[in-house]
Amino acid sequence: MINGKIWLSSPTMHEEEQAYIKKAFDTNWVAPLGPNVTEFEDVTAKYVGVAHAAALSAGTAALHLAVKLAGIKPGDKVLCSDLTFSATVNPVSYEGGEQVFIDSERDTWNMDPQALEKAFVTYPNAKAVIVANLYGTPAKLDELKEITEAHGAVFIEDAAESLGASYKGKMTGSFGKYNALSYNGNKIITTSGGGMLLSDDEEAIKKARFWATQSREPFPWYEHKELGYNYRMSNIVAGIGLGQMEHLNEHVALKEAIYQRYEDGFKKRNLPISMNPYLQDSKPNFWLSCCLIDKTCPVKPMTILEYLKKRNIEGRPIWKPMHMQLFYKDRDFITVRDNVGEDIFARGMCLPSDIKMTVAEQEMVMDKIAECFA
Ligand SMILES: *Cc1c(COP(=O)(O)O)cnc(C)c1O
Repeated sequence: MINGKIWLSSPTMHEEEQAYIKKAFDTNWVAPLGPNVTEFEDVTAKYVGVAHAAALSAGTAALHLAVKLAGIKPGDKVLCSDLTFSATVNPVSYEGGEQVFIDSERDTWNMDPQALEKAFVTYPNAKAVIVANLYGTPAKLDELKEITEAHGAVFIEDAAESLGASYKGKMTGSFGKYNALSYNGNKIITTSGGGMLLSDDEEAIKKARFWATQSREPFPWYEHKELGYNYRMSNIVAGIGLGQMEHLNEHVALKEAIYQRYEDGFKKRNLPISMNPYLQDSKPNFWLSCCLIDKTCPVKPMTILEYLKKRNIEGRPIWKPMHMQLFYKDRDFITVRDNVGEDIFARGMCLPSDIKMTVAEQEMVMDKIAECFA
């Protein structure tokens, strides 16, 4: 309980963040850039297992630069996860590209490889594929990457929610040609706000840093040949990130324990719900524990969420699929099944997954949920 409330996922700070910030103050490396930024990039690249990283002002900025690096031009088609946060797909529009939304499968709730294969039949010239690892659960990354590359498209991984998760022993955020992380306030670690672009391609990361600092050419005066952006991370923010990185594995372990307690607790209470699934050869970071209400049960997620809200407990609906968003009403949507994303949206919800929630508080949350089924 923080400020009288049980949170979905709030920032968890430690001592080390302050030490890095103090160092930045003491050396006057408050802005711009500075040694914390370089170190944060190095530490993150090493952790994820990618050669190069660029620290940015947001995960959305990382995705935007990934889309630019993939060479998306006006009218280009980009095949995107449908069941995700809008920030996964909006950057395609920043460059004038057109999203085609790909339905989910039921094993991980992420992009369905069969639907992706089908999409390439309709859109053989699609330039890129953007896959999100929803709620920290790795997608079927090998299959998706293989299909993408077989069609000559660029694979982009949105690992904003899945830092610390792995698939077949490899960290998420390392499967794409370009990969994005986020340090937004409620993610598994946070810098108060920020993002990271990761790639094995050194030239690409250098280009991203160039675009992110207003595309300033190396002249004594301000010389510009290209459109620029102000997307870099500050040295203060990177200091918070360095402190948080020292606790990432601990955050993942705490999140996993929360997921396990929900799974066991719902079983013990005999509730008609199941947890968000994952593949046996993957290890999620369990960023948000989610559940799905059985098809035969008439109880709706919004009823439970409102019941919890009245008791100062924060849950959240599942991301509303992108093909259902008014803004994207003109976009195509490809599915091979019974519209999996819409079904998960209708029957699923995100549970309080804050790592400062006590065991007793979590038991109380489950009791309150059980009351909705009584
Ligand atoms: C949080 C998030 C982003 C965006 O990250 P910001 O740092 O908030 O810009 C992108 N994609 C997904 C799936 C996210 O959850």
